[in-house]
Amino acid sequence: MADIAIAQLSEWKGVRGKIAFSEPMSTYTSLKVGGPADLYFAPVDAEDLAEILTLCQKRGIEWLPFGGGCNLLVTGKGIRGAVIHLKHLILSGASGGVLDALRQWELFPGEEIRLRLSAALALPRLLNLALERGWGGVEFLAGIPGTVGGAVAMNAGTRLGEFGDVVESVEILAVEGRFIHLPAEDLFFSYRHCELPAGSAVISAEISLYAHPDPREMRAKTAEYMQYRRESQPLSKPNCGSVFKNPPGYKAGALIEECGLKGQRIGDAQISDLHGNFIVNLGEAKSEDVLALIELAKGVVCRELKIELEEEVRIVGEK
Ligand SMILES: Cc1cc2nc3c(=O)[nH]c(=O)nc-3n(C[C@H](O)[C@H](O)[C@H](O)COP(=O)(O)OP(=O)(O)OC[C@H]3O[C@@H](n4cnc5c(N)ncnc54)[C@H](O)[C@@H]3O)c2cc1C
Repeated sequence: MADIAIAQLSEWKGVRGKIAFSEPMSTYTSLKVGGPADLYFAPVDAEDLAEILTLCQKRGIEWLPFGGGCNLLVTGKGIRGAVIHLKHLILSGASGGVLDALRQWELFPGEEIRLRLSAALALPRLLNLALERGWGGVEFLAGIPGTVGGAVAMNAGTRLGEFGDVVESVEILAVEGRFIHLPAEDLFFSYRHCELPAGSAVISAEISLYAHPDPREMRAKTAEYMQYRRESQPLSKPNCGSVFKNPPGYKAGALIEECGLKGQRIGDAQISDLHGNFIVNLGEAKSEDVLALIELAKGVVCRELKIELEEEVRIVGEK
């Protein structure tokens, strides 16, 4: 695949963002594991993305949207096809509101607090913006890394709320190169899931927030919650957040702990001894070590507790 793409390199010269071949995905995943992607593109804006997708379609190259890499486990063999890294995408132009200097968000005029966000906007930046301005609605993002695009695709959240709760609509680039506006109802947000059309990329999302009646209290509560997460999650080591979804009525981490699996290690991958639903990279972990730990946890929990665990982390790449 990479050879074909290199042979046709002249075709890609209209692309303005970074292009690379055999790019190691371990550089971009929060777990710091993952083999190479045949092709890697980091488009700078929606037009650049459209150019890339058209070329991929013409060449029959499959592609995967990639945001902050905080919920992705890339196999050791890596990704056959293209990774489109949507971490630098800026908003193409103002849609009647005021764009911020970095063109990552736009505030619409009016009583309501309505924002258009670039898919590339970092979730901690969105949270900080809301806390600074006294806007309520996204406090649940405290401690969740990644991008707006990834938060839409995953319906990121906690028991305090989910991204789908604030989304009004999204703009996507569909696989055939068309820009489409979709209202939130068409996305059928559910627990860590959203129904985006196959092969599409989120370019931007419109969200609604509200003027919090007590911003100071909001900031204090969010800081408290962040502190709780710092104490209960292994944030000093590379990880990908919760590995498993919580089965209805249970907490995946508690089930793993009950089976005595905390601290289990394969190679340099370890089920965190702090939180059973986290796998950490102790240094040189390989994707295969992480996958083996996932299979181990699923097998033991199923055998001992008769409960099926389902991965929350998205496993991608050649098996
Ligand atoms: C320490 C830590 C704590 C975490 N805590 C939480 C938590 O409390 N709650 C929670 O829900 N998650 C949590 N996560 C997981 C992760 O932060 C979220 O799932 C986040 O939304 C992922 O965003 P991302 O940009 O990194 O997506 P990625 O990991 O890059 O991608 C995730 C999925 O989204 C798709 N995707 C990404 N961008 C786009 C786009 N623009 N268009 C279309 N599809 C796209 C990818 O193809 C992939 O399928 C945590 C992760 C870490 C490391």
